[in-house]
Amino acid sequence: MLSVGDAEAIILNLVQPLDDQRDIEVVDLLAAASRILAVPVTSPLDFPHWDNSAMDGYAVRYEDVQDSSAEQPAILEIVEEIPAGYQPKSTIQPGQAARIFTGAVMPAGADTVVMQEKTRQEENRVFILDTPKPQEFVRHKASFYQAGTQLLPAGIKLNAPEIAVLAAAQCQQLSVYRRPRVAIFSTGDELVSVDKLLQPGQIVDSNQYAIAALVKESGAEPLILGIVKDDPVALEKVITHAVAIADIVLSSGGVSVGDYDYVDKILESLRAKIHIRAVQIKPGKPLTVATLPSTDAINRVCTHSPLYFGLPGNPGAVLVTFWRFVLPAIKKLSGITEAWEPVFLKVRSHDELRSDGKNETYLWGKLHLIDGIYEFHKAGGSHSSGNLINLAQTNALAVLPMGKTLISPQEEVQVLQLFNG
Ligand code: AMP
Ligand code: MG
Repeated sequence: MLSVGDAEAIILNLVQPLDDQRDIEVVDLLAAASRILAVPVTSPLDFPHWDNSAMDGYAVRYEDVQDSSAEQPAILEIVEEIPAGYQPKSTIQPGQAARIFTGAVMPAGADTVVMQEKTRQEENRVFILDTPKPQEFVRHKASFYQAGTQLLPAGIKLNAPEIAVLAAAQCQQLSVYRRPRVAIFSTGDELVSVDKLLQPGQIVDSNQYAIAALVKESGAEPLILGIVKDDPVALEKVITHAVAIADIVLSSGGVSVGDYDYVDKILESLRAKIHIRAVQIKPGKPLTVATLPSTDAINRVCTHSPLYFGLPGNPGAVLVTFWRFVLPAIKKLSGITEAWEPVFLKVRSHDELRSDGKNETYLWGKLHLIDGIYEFHKAGGSHSSGNLINLAQTNALAVLPMGKTLISPQEEVQVLQLFNG
């Protein structure tokens, strides 16, 4: 059976990122947050656009003030007042200064700003009470960014700082990668949707809702295909449809060794290549990963052969395998050029953590910041993969490598950090 690391490598190797020509769309800047930039951005504007003041104070010629002190201040004539947004008219001559405010354009002739706190003004004269450094508090044109050079590279996620940069560069519309399309369906005769009265033996199809939420959080578009009975004909129909409309297909259930677990057999009958059938992970061992051959029907909507994940049925296993394997795959597919691998942190464990040592074991819980150090608190209650109740509020998974049966309280543990954007 495959180790978790080997399975991860196989999966990431199978993922073809979206195409930077075909798989892009243009969005308005206000709709661009958390999208992935598809084309590098260059600006024709310098930043700053012109020399401006970083302080409220006085724009001066350095040579006029280089020996100033409280005892022997230079005394300069104020010839102009320059608020932000105003274009100065005068050129500062020897013995002159301009009153200037933060962000305002430096007047010609001046090269240095003396902060207001180091001056005293009397009518139209300013007394300079200290010697500034040459060019102090001047933000020079193009010192932050030079026009025509690359402002932002392709393949980055647009968060607030990037949106601010794009706004400053007057990019009103942007090319971003389209959202990856992820088809979701659940398999099982026992499943019903949330609005149905439960009959004996039935359970709510919580996986469909959980996976849809996970897919949305990942920035991809969930395509909800509903519940499919443990019936080979119905399953074949939905799988054929799913691979025709999606980049990634996520089914849950039906991949174990039970008599009603048909998913692998149907994938084989559809000439899928099955890359993974099981992984040494707990929870989540019965995990199927397959690629399907591209057909004309697929090519019309999908530029590469879709990746199929047959996730286990148990709700705990669904979340763990999604976070560990599916999320990095979606991120790589999305066009992000880096940071799609899972983020592991070394933290202190608050609780005793146990495993049978036979599989890489993931225990869910919460990271708390204690005196500036992260501490992992295992969720109380059963860690059975069938128990979803104590998964609520999980923000990290503690990882016990194969062979490790015990981590004692206060010992170091590696955790998979969830929800890190
Ligand atoms: P299976 O792998 O299909 O045998 O499913 C394993 C376990 O997960 C069974 O107890 C199922 O009832 C449960 N299960 C399967 N699918 C879902 C689902 N969509 N939502 C909640 N539980 C499920
Ligand atoms: Mg089932």
